[in-house]
Amino acid sequence: MTDHAYDLECIDISRKFGSVRAVDDVSLSIPRGSFFSILGPSGCGKTTLMRMIAGFEKPDHGDIRIKGSSVLNAAPNKRNVKMVFQHLALFPMMNVYDNIAYGLRCSGTSKADIQKKVHDVLERVALPDVAKRDIGQLSGGQKQRIAIARCMVLDPDVLLLDEPLGALDLKLREAMKIELKLLQHQFNTTFVYITHDQSEALVMSDQVAVMNNGRFEQVGTPQMLYQQPATAFVAGFVGDSNIWKAKVTAVSATGVTVCTGAGTQLQARLSAEQPCRAGDNVVIYVRPEFMQVQALGAIEGQAVSELNTLQGHVDSVLFNGANSRLLVRTPEQALVEADVTLTGGSDDIRPGAAIALQWSSQQTLCFPESSV
Ligand code: ATP
Repeated sequence: MTDHAYDLECIDISRKFGSVRAVDDVSLSIPRGSFFSILGPSGCGKTTLMRMIAGFEKPDHGDIRIKGSSVLNAAPNKRNVKMVFQHLALFPMMNVYDNIAYGLRCSGTSKADIQKKVHDVLERVALPDVAKRDIGQLSGGQKQRIAIARCMVLDPDVLLLDEPLGALDLKLREAMKIELKLLQHQFNTTFVYITHDQSEALVMSDQVAVMNNGRFEQVGTPQMLYQQPATAFVAGFVGDSNIWKAKVTAVSATGVTVCTGAGTQLQARLSAEQPCRAGDNVVIYVRPEFMQVQALGAIEGQAVSELNTLQGHVDSVLFNGANSRLLVRTPEQALVEADVTLTGGSDDIRPGAAIALQWSSQQTLCFPESSV
């Protein structure tokens, strides 16, 4: 048997509905045994892409390969791909055992094998004692695990998960993020997870594709998307940012100098994918946690800093557990957000206090306004 590096490949696939390009020339290669998320806003084409991989929708052009072989002409039940839907689609009239055994019975597996496989998979999802329970007697989190067990008992090459946490309350969703990641490790099967929730995608995934208007804006590790977003869309969609308009006044090999509407000069990193030229209108992105907050007195008399600096007054302090978020009113930007860890002695940082915000040019992203 040939050994393939990729469990799933999509090669230049597209799907139009009338004039809507739901999926527009998308390619992806998912290495074996990884957790891959497709992240994007409502209507960006995630479900259409997933449906094409599962075989419920045919691409207008392009190819889809599972373990190196094209499945374009294979019906959904002939692809070794299983799917967990948002509403799980468990059979309410059957107990847990029969739900999980269903697919095995359809494929003619012997009774003894079914028994062994069902019990094995229940062990693996850490629910060894629920085989006889009705579906209605399970908690939301247990139903999720049974929905995954029902697919995994069939030993798929790829498991597709279509926003499976969407119907859960916030607390359970947080717990299930971690559980899903652990289950994926445990089965060592490629999971393709679609979501509009960036925190789900960042926590669970080895790789994330950020999708917008039917296209992939960027594919990378969660860290890469967060620290080096390739486009303005990714910078705005993944994580929080302060976002300001500015104009480029100079470009050097290492970065750009921009001038904000109120005349403050800031240094920013030059984007390799979307470079700017002098005179361009741009949009600047700075994450709240990259800002260092100083009492104004602490920087007065300081030699000219390499860092970008904005001065302002604390408007509000929003307590958020480990960190607090400051809303800072500066002369030029309406409200700037900065994250700080406030300790008992942080009396300088209170509403009304005069402070300076400082951050480096490398933490300042700059994209052409025309790309936003
Ligand atoms: P959501 O997160 O809201 O489910 P999505 O990212 O999954 O959205 P899709 O459901 O794939 O997006 O839809 C992408 C685009 O294609 C949308 O504009 C949608 O209206 C359109 N579309 C999807 N399916 C069809 C269809 N069967 N007929 C016509 N248009 C469709």
